[in-house]
Amino acid sequence: MAIILDGKKLRDKIFEDLKAKLDNMPVKPTLAVILAGDEPSSRIYVNNKKKCAEKLGINSIVIEYPAHVTEEELLNKIQELNNDKNITAILVQLPLPEHIDKFKIIDAISPGKDVDGLTTYNSGKLFSGEKPYVYPCTPKGILLLLDEYDIKLEGKHAVVIGRSNLVGKPVAQMLLQRNATVTMCHSHTKNLSDIIKTADIIISAVGKNVVGEKNIIKSDCVIVDVGIFRDESGKVRGDVDFEALSKTAAYISPVPGGVGPMTIASLMLNTVELHK
Ligand code: NAP
Repeated sequence: MAIILDGKKLRDKIFEDLKAKLDNMPVKPTLAVILAGDEPSSRIYVNNKKKCAEKLGINSIVIEYPAHVTEEELLNKIQELNNDKNITAILVQLPLPEHIDKFKIIDAISPGKDVDGLTTYNSGKLFSGEKPYVYPCTPKGILLLLDEYDIKLEGKHAVVIGRSNLVGKPVAQMLLQRNATVTMCHSHTKNLSDIIKTADIIISAVGKNVVGEKNIIKSDCVIVDVGIFRDESGKVRGDVDFEALSKTAAYISPVPGGVGPMTIASLMLNTVELHK
């Protein structure tokens, strides 16, 4: 049976350390979250972030806009937050309404307040091998989880499934910087199961069941499941068939309870880092 990569346990440990640090800070950091539109899951994510921040002693404000908000309104608000000395970190909850250019909005955030590490400045630093202000939350959480279980990356074949700016691309880059050999897969990849067979580490960030019981994996394979979606019965699922693969992999992260809690832990860590 695989060892479970327990994101909840590590998140709690990180929160304990952070809380102690924050208790000793005379001025607490402030996280500003912009929520535009009426996507129910976005609202749940934002509420969770706010609750978590407050529990730790991070101030948090949520600025809400209706789905018909204009780009100009969002850009003006971001400018105001950039100039506000009391604001430490800015997060724009994605997805944004369709008529909004998300790249333009994200890039309006001052790089030193870009808590998700998604601006061109911070991702450019990451991709050129320099240190960004902070690393993107989900990839950072994944690496923290692998490190916690002392999983070596150097020389390993890491297969990243999904190539989004949010997860796939930055995590691949971070693995590369840790001297893994990285293969990136996406919806046009032809021989995914052949590639999976050769993986020492699989990071799957798709949002569909792409790794199932028919997949042959190495016996020492480490599986990190980033995906979250609801199946036909409404049950929350990951990209990986946990039942089947937890019998054959060496390590596996569950959904829920794996990468999700690590993403929020990284968000809190990044907020405190930007405060410095
Ligand atoms: P995204 O932007 O929708 O990207 C999905 C990626 O999956 C795309 O690169 C797509 O390829 C690829 N893909 C689609 N079908 C595929 C297939 N059959 N085989 C291989 N690749 C395929 O998603 P995202 O923002 O990266 O999120 C991915 C998943 O992770 C979602 O379920 C999301 O909810 C979850 N997520 C979880 C957390 C967390 O904290 N746990 C954080 C972020 C995201 P193309 O590029 O070719 O279209």
